[in-house]
Amino acid sequence: MTEDKMRRSESALPVQVVGLLSTIEEHGYEAYVVGGAVRDLLLGESPEDYDVTTSATPEEVQMIFGEKACHLTGLSHGTITVVIDHYPIEVTTFRVESTYSDARHPDEVHFTRSLQEDVKRRDFTINAMAMDARGNILDYCGGKEDLERGIIRTVGDPKQRFEEDALRILRALRFASEHGFAIEDETAREILAQKQALTRLSAERIWKEFSRLICGMYCVPILRRYFDVFTVFIPELAPMQGFDQRNPHHIYDVWEHTLVSVISVQPELILRLTMLLHDVGKPACFTTDEDGVGHFLGHMQISAEMADAILRRLKVDNETRETTVLLIKAHDVAMTPVSIRIIRRRLAQYGETNLRRLLEVKRADTMAHSPKSAYRLIELNHFEELLDKVLEEKMCFSFDELAITGKDLIRIGMKPGVGIGQVKKQLLNEVIDGQLQNEKEILLARAQELRKTL
Ligand code: ATP
Ligand code: MG
Repeated sequence: MTEDKMRRSESALPVQVVGLLSTIEEHGYEAYVVGGAVRDLLLGESPEDYDVTTSATPEEVQMIFGEKACHLTGLSHGTITVVIDHYPIEVTTFRVESTYSDARHPDEVHFTRSLQEDVKRRDFTINAMAMDARGNILDYCGGKEDLERGIIRTVGDPKQRFEEDALRILRALRFASEHGFAIEDETAREILAQKQALTRLSAERIWKEFSRLICGMYCVPILRRYFDVFTVFIPELAPMQGFDQRNPHHIYDVWEHTLVSVISVQPELILRLTMLLHDVGKPACFTTDEDGVGHFLGHMQISAEMADAILRRLKVDNETRETTVLLIKAHDVAMTPVSIRIIRRRLAQYGETNLRRLLEVKRADTMAHSPKSAYRLIELNHFEELLDKVLEEKMCFSFDELAITGKDLIRIGMKPGVGIGQVKKQLLNEVIDGQLQNEKEILLARAQELRKTL
């Protein structure tokens, strides 16, 4: 063990956490911050939450802080949430886990009074360090050195550790994607060897890790190297790898094109997912013309349908799924020739947020074509500049902005019903196209004409 007395980070821990650790110590027990928070502090990042591990049993923790401050949320795992100054901190008793017969849940959980035993059950060396109230690091597994060198390595034998819990396969890839770390050779070999065990995990657990993985700064090398792991739970990706597009606009196969597009969008979940799946249907709709050039007619629709099925299977929330599917379906829609008219149309179709997303999607898609397509980036920039102008000047584009309402139409004698909707739609189209001014009197006069044609 290396106990790094030089590294005092009293100020790095929030006062509530220091207070909690010190109080437990004053009662004669050990208590440490452990896991992700220690890793993040050593990386100079600020942790989202602080997990505490202690030699005190849950009952002893409750005695120390009193029933009012303690929430018994995870008592069966030995976890109590202690609220200090409105700040909730999870406190877990040192644990040892015995055998895992289902690659998911330990058969039994035992408490122990030894920190060393507790950290040995943790997944990776970088996640197995502890920090006391004074900022001393306790490192029984070589986590500090691995962190400095940027290495992900299981605590103990990787074969056994992945057999115990297959989720660790995805966690290793997620940490590598987030931090740009290398995966130690033996650990990497076992990830590939045991990938099939992922089929035993629930969709929710897979999604929790995978959604973070694809938002990692360094996800592309991971998606490329561990492709065979991802096809275990998204088999639809398999035909994309090595699929030659036989098209002069493409310099990459479908999977490489996908990877370049993924890294070309912001690390926002919907954008990353859209890029990952935007061409998933391409292999299924491939045809060649008489010159041997490849085409993918209807691939947006097919890709959108396949993405919908994949995201339902992974139990992704409805909003994320629906927006992703919408963007995939629209990813090839024309934005040119750039004009106020087309901008108004697209705004009416997609709304501002999704139209801006769509521009980012199209930009990333273009960047992953061949350099010959670069002029399209200039068109997209032009579109966005004009879009800003349209929005700034609040030029009309949706029913909300139309200067008349259904009530106005009833007032001029129209009967409530579908006719009103039809007239409004026609008026909006004419306003968007610049044929009509968005002014009440003008719209009413035009409405009088239109109702005669119904
Ligand atoms: P992040 O803050 O990025 O989520 P984390 O390391 O805090 O990373 P958590 O899922 O919050 O990740 O887990 C907290 C700690 O619990 C980990 O650091 C690790 O020590 C341990 N842990 C979590 N999941 C597992 C697992 N499947 N097997 C073994 N140990 C685990
Ligand atoms: Mg955490």
